[in-house]
Amino acid sequence: MNDNSGDTLKKLVSLCKRRGFIFQSGEIYGGLQSSWDYGPLGAELKRNIESSWWNFMVSTRGNVVGMDSAIITHPDVWKASGHLKHFHDPMVDCLKCKSRFRQDHVEGDSCPNCGGSLTEPREFGLMFKTSMGALEDDSATVYLRPETCQPIFANFRNVVTASRQRLPFGIAQTGKAFRNEITARNFIFRSREFEQMEMEFFVAPDEAEEWFDYWLQQRMEWYGELGIRRDNLRTRMHEEGELAHYARSCCDLEYAFPFAGDGWGELEGIANRGDYDLGAHIQESGQNLFYTDPVSNEKFIPFVIETSGGIGRTILAVLLDAYREEMVDGRERVVLSLHRNLAPIKAAVLPLSKKLSEQAEEVYRAMAPVIPTTFDVTGSIGKRYRRMDEAGTPFCITYDFDSLEDGCVTVRERDSLQQIRVPMETLPETMMGIMTGGWPKED
Ligand code: ATP
Repeated sequence: MNDNSGDTLKKLVSLCKRRGFIFQSGEIYGGLQSSWDYGPLGAELKRNIESSWWNFMVSTRGNVVGMDSAIITHPDVWKASGHLKHFHDPMVDCLKCKSRFRQDHVEGDSCPNCGGSLTEPREFGLMFKTSMGALEDDSATVYLRPETCQPIFANFRNVVTASRQRLPFGIAQTGKAFRNEITARNFIFRSREFEQMEMEFFVAPDEAEEWFDYWLQQRMEWYGELGIRRDNLRTRMHEEGELAHYARSCCDLEYAFPFAGDGWGELEGIANRGDYDLGAHIQESGQNLFYTDPVSNEKFIPFVIETSGGIGRTILAVLLDAYREEMVDGRERVVLSLHRNLAPIKAAVLPLSKKLSEQAEEVYRAMAPVIPTTFDVTGSIGKRYRRMDEAGTPFCITYDFDSLEDGCVTVRERDSLQQIRVPMETLPETMMGIMTGGWPKED
């Protein structure tokens, strides 16, 4: 479905601005490249995705606990993890148009933009450095975390002691990560500040591959629950030579983005990290991060299965997958068919005429405590429907002149455009029923 000409992405970027999902950061000053601000609808969508992840990964499982670590982390954490040594990407610059690329993103030895010659590859440090302390001279160099998982490893003993979890169990967190990417592009797909959703699952070494398969299947299921079409998702196992220094096996979960080339881009990586991380922190800190089996008393370093995804990339995939242009009654409409659980606004109450505003506002007041609801009186009813379609609002509730007589309102479903008449008295229960059970089937 996604065409790779760049048109779909352009249209989506424009819709995101128009409807208040995502804005370029610092736009009034000319914009900060590859930095994005989430507007009113984007902030809600992001929260909905994050809470869906938390619910799926943490709240509904007895063997996964959450944490929320600091962004500025002890520098030795990054020494132990190998980031200070390994977290560099070789980059090349075009001598003609001055574009910069990650070497592994360039095929051949000329510039993908203009065909010009490229420089020799140079190393590029990806961690954002800052200093901590009042006086610059005395201050310590610290780093903004480039991933959320290392603080999980560094807190392994604290969490085990406090939560009394036994293998196999996981620790999860969501939050900001920062990477000074060489070429940040494709809207929110690659930015320098982004949010991750990561879970480290600690297991007995001989059970690692089994859990790897389990989590891969679980993570695919979650993307399906967000309403993303299965055809636009695939898994891709890493070849031996492609594996990161810490990984024993790794599989990317990819989405068919409408980017140049074949478009497939990573949403999430599932990796068997072996005992690399805990082992490295034991060595660097000299602390006991071993796990002692409560039955056999055996002491060992658990293996780790990691699921590591990005919120921004998930938002982009969800928006692209939901974006549709279609003809309705001879007029084109743009609609975001977002899953009702993700939609930032679930219902809009619309008086057919301004004269009905007061009565319709009562309906709004009854609905607002039940599901996220908005009230809109401005413009023709057709225009208001179009605005709500573009915002991905699944239900419009219209108060018309008949409502004064029969005490009913019309509920319109965004995708099928079906309408039902519902008594105002039972509207909140009916809407709750539809939110959990779906649109009523026709008899
Ligand atoms: P890539 O190869 O695309 O740079 P990566 O393999 O370096 O990604 P990981 O380190 O595995 O990415 O990070 C886990 C997840 O974090 C990715 O799957 C992605 O969803 C997200 N992520 C990583 N870097 C960025 C970024 N610069 N902007 C937005 N999301 C990112």
